[in-house]
Amino acid sequence: MPIRLLPDTLANQIAAGEVIERPASVLKELVENSLDAGATHIRLETVNAGLTRMVVHDDGSGIPKDELKLALQRHATSKIATTADLFHIHTFGFRGEALPSIAAVARLTLTSKHVDASEAWQITPDGALKPAALPKGTKIEVDDLFYATPARRKFLKSERSERMAIEDTLLRIALAHPHVTFTLHEDNAESWHIPAAQGDFLTATAPRLSHLIDTDFARQALPIHVERDGITLTGYVSPATLHTSNARHQYVYVNGRPIKDRSLHVALKNAYADRLPAGRHPLAVLFITLPPEDVDVNVHPAKAEVRFRDSHALYGLLFAAVRQANGNGAMAAAPSPRLPMVETVHAHTPYQPPTPTSLAFQAPPAKLWKGDEPVSAPVPLADSSAPLPDHPLGAALGQIANTYIVAEKADGALVVVDQHAAHERLVYEGLKNQSASGHIARQALLIPITIPLSPAQTHLILGHAAELDKLGLEIEPHGPASIVVTAVPQLLGNIDPTPLIRDILTDLAEQSTRTTLASRMEHVLATMACHHSIRANRRLSLAEMNTLLRHMEETPNSLTCNHGRPTTVTISLMALERLFDRR
Ligand code: ADP
Ligand code: MG
Repeated sequence: MPIRLLPDTLANQIAAGEVIERPASVLKELVENSLDAGATHIRLETVNAGLTRMVVHDDGSGIPKDELKLALQRHATSKIATTADLFHIHTFGFRGEALPSIAAVARLTLTSKHVDASEAWQITPDGALKPAALPKGTKIEVDDLFYATPARRKFLKSERSERMAIEDTLLRIALAHPHVTFTLHEDNAESWHIPAAQGDFLTATAPRLSHLIDTDFARQALPIHVERDGITLTGYVSPATLHTSNARHQYVYVNGRPIKDRSLHVALKNAYADRLPAGRHPLAVLFITLPPEDVDVNVHPAKAEVRFRDSHALYGLLFAAVRQANGNGAMAAAPSPRLPMVETVHAHTPYQPPTPTSLAFQAPPAKLWKGDEPVSAPVPLADSSAPLPDHPLGAALGQIANTYIVAEKADGALVVVDQHAAHERLVYEGLKNQSASGHIARQALLIPITIPLSPAQTHLILGHAAELDKLGLEIEPHGPASIVVTAVPQLLGNIDPTPLIRDILTDLAEQSTRTTLASRMEHVLATMACHHSIRANRRLSLAEMNTLLRHMEETPNSLTCNHGRPTTVTISLMALERLFDRR
């Protein structure tokens, strides 16, 4: 083929490939245009998760009649004019690509009334310009997305995931614009009405935290606000006692724009350091404001990534702010308000399990180590003169850091057990066992717990209600945007179901449609077990330690935790002797 210039439509379709990935990306571009136009009310409508129709209507400044046609042309923008402007971006848009890209892959109708004009005008999909009735602002209708590029349509996920992506996009943008009212109508029913809030930015943002993340975070989040060298960092972070199974709930905005930046996530994680249990992640909403010339937003077509001029200063600021919000070194010491903390148990008081149904710590008496002292007797130290029975994991000698059980085997080997990991494994195996035998024992909640969720999350989890019920977790619908938990698996004891439901939702949302139901449910079981065992360190009596060891010996797979890490380490007597150069 000879070299030739691409026709406009094709060039626009190529551009659309980068900018318009799915319905949610259309809405993102349109809402950003509305915000650039100074809108205070933005109304979104979708039909069929946006595939059939999307409408964005704002009350912004509008487009003059003689610029309407231009707005649909490639590289036409009112936001920048010179190269200098490119490094001084104050708006979301500047590439002049969104409208022509959308118009190249869907049927776009643009209606607008400029603030200074007396009437509104409309451009129809066939390019005709005619007078229209619109009292204020701009209304953009997008019908039959990807009708012109059917191959793209094949890459879309299920309607449900497209709907979740739309909500996620809306809620992310809404969080950074608390003084703007947003509404979303899905299939002719209002699913979100987010009214503009009053007051300063941080205060106004607070009510929206529960929309995007959840009420736990909204209630417990610690505000942060620091300024240094022209950078302002403000927002909310979780206390060390609130965490999730992945980094999904870490939202970062730069000059109002939601972005992804791996190293900021790393800085955040480092600020919590070892204050979070292994594999858990903090939650955060961070708003970074800095002079436009200190950040390059022109590095990604959908502007999802940016480049900072001085990233080190920013990471340092973030690190310091998070530590400060968490009270510096006090983070680890702060007792969790949500997870049951067990008081220190003195050796002479028999230990009362806080959860009467707890598996590992409430074994039938026959399972106790025979050589154990009566539980009520003082047991400051194991009786070293008694002969040791030959258990694979030995006899408990004591506990280190309220975390590790130290035991001695008959052959003199030293066994160290990570009690949290072991306990988690036992609960998991117990759940799996019960599940295999067809019935997971459940415990009805005295007071059913209502959990507010987004409509999409409600839809998602209720779609799995029958399977969760088989796992002992009973949920019921409660309006369009919440559920009620009425029973939990007995093995989990006295847990708070809200974070559990949140993690299960993450599991369900993340698993592709290809994984089988069985493997999905196995994952949910592991998540449940994890919730039981994430708790503050607790002191155990020797009897409890031995009970745990005997359970582990009886439980297959108990030598690694659910995450594949070891639960026990054994050092043979010979190895000990080598350590001391005796061999
Ligand atoms: P960009 O936002 O990068 O400038 P777009 O293709 O998104 O490019 O929009 C082109 C132009 O159309 C914008 O620069 C703006 O002048 C105008 N425009 C688009 N949407 C709106 C809106 N909702 N209100 C007012 N003007 C708009
Ligand atoms: Mg734009």
